[in-house]
Amino acid sequence: MDIENLISKELKYQQQQLKLIPSENYVRPAVMKAVGSILMNKYAENYPGKRYYQGNKNMDEIETLCQERALSLFGLSPEKWHVNVQAVLGSIGNLAVYNSVLEPGDRILAMHLPHGGHLSHGWKLEDGKNVSFSGKIYDSYFYKVDKETETFDYDEIEKQAQEVRPKLIISGGTAYPRDIDHSRLGEIAKSIGAYYLADIAHEAGLIASGLLNSPFPHADFVTMTTRKTLRGPIGTLIFTRSELAEAIDRAVFPGLQGGPMINSIAGIAVALKEASSSEFREYSKQVILNAKTLSEELSKLGFRVISGGTEKHLILVDIRAKQPDGLIAAELLEATDIITNKNTIPYETGTPWRPTGIRLGTPAVTTRGMREKEMPEIASLIEETLNTTKFEPKTTRAEVREAITSIAEINNIKDKVHKLTSRFPIYSEL
Ligand SMILES: *Cc1c(COP(=O)(O)O)cnc(C)c1O
Repeated sequence: MDIENLISKELKYQQQQLKLIPSENYVRPAVMKAVGSILMNKYAENYPGKRYYQGNKNMDEIETLCQERALSLFGLSPEKWHVNVQAVLGSIGNLAVYNSVLEPGDRILAMHLPHGGHLSHGWKLEDGKNVSFSGKIYDSYFYKVDKETETFDYDEIEKQAQEVRPKLIISGGTAYPRDIDHSRLGEIAKSIGAYYLADIAHEAGLIASGLLNSPFPHADFVTMTTRKTLRGPIGTLIFTRSELAEAIDRAVFPGLQGGPMINSIAGIAVALKEASSSEFREYSKQVILNAKTLSEELSKLGFRVISGGTEKHLILVDIRAKQPDGLIAAELLEATDIITNKNTIPYETGTPWRPTGIRLGTPAVTTRGMREKEMPEIASLIEETLNTTKFEPKTTRAEVREAITSIAEINNIKDKVHKLTSRFPIYSEL
């Protein structure tokens, strides 16, 4: 089998499956066209007007246009704000922020990973074992959600910030279903002379659409991946105040990277134009409506939804009422072509490999055109799948896969999933 065949196979799989991964989406063909273009033949080290190699006049225009569109999407004045569009991944974008204003050993205070945070925010294990490079270099501390409400208590974060005295406070995560009070976090940071980084990787598109609290102008840095709710290619935007523009640019190149992926930057520029349209705003609204509806439907079916619901595009579910853990649940769901991921939940009793939750999101199904009407059907397909067989705790992944092959209902449910997705085609023109 060659790569071309595997891509065709994957296209069919993406068309048939019900993708509920909140960090994934489907980009438009125009974005793919830019990313797959001849721009990848270029080396464009350094920034517009300052390239090290000759022949970059078109690259300069592309990168500048991308920057203009990014600032304009979030309503930012180019006098006061700067955006770097070169970091290749969200994680690298965050490292660049640290690299711009921190020294090794400096303290950071960020969201605890099992409470929704991200690896690149200095994550390390309680025994001090490093998982992320950021946890190795910086002295990281973490704030947690309240045990009862499963949401952040900003008074507690303030107390912790006063005790820890970090040089940088970070917000943003991968599995926190609630909106974040950027104004309060910005104030807390200011009161102790710390920088505030808002990592809005997940919510970028929803914030651009004006539907969630904006971190501007409360944050000193705002990072975001472009591939999640923003519906662009893999890439990153790092916003900062003009005073820090030079520091952030140097921290990316030559600090962390060489020549940028100018083809991706072009793809981001295409996606940013789309994100500034009224259609995109309607799309973002529908993403949230769908998530709220799906969360309610799941609650009705007896699932425990973390924090009691959602205010954005993602839902975190404690799966223990249905299966022993998230690994088993996600494997079962994959068997009916419902694609999710296992996820830790606040005050997790399992491990990252066998956490007790699964995470669901609506950006991808909403791009397909699904609306509130389809959410009860999705909830019941999830429930039906998880009810086919109740597994024993600790059943291994291989054992689960083996057992699934003899569950008769699995194929029937998978047919129903395909029937649903075939009503909302993607990439039919490819
Ligand atoms: C997705 C995400 C990132 C970036 O991830 P990459 O895979 O490195 O692009 C960073 N921070 C948060 C909070 C995220 O959700």
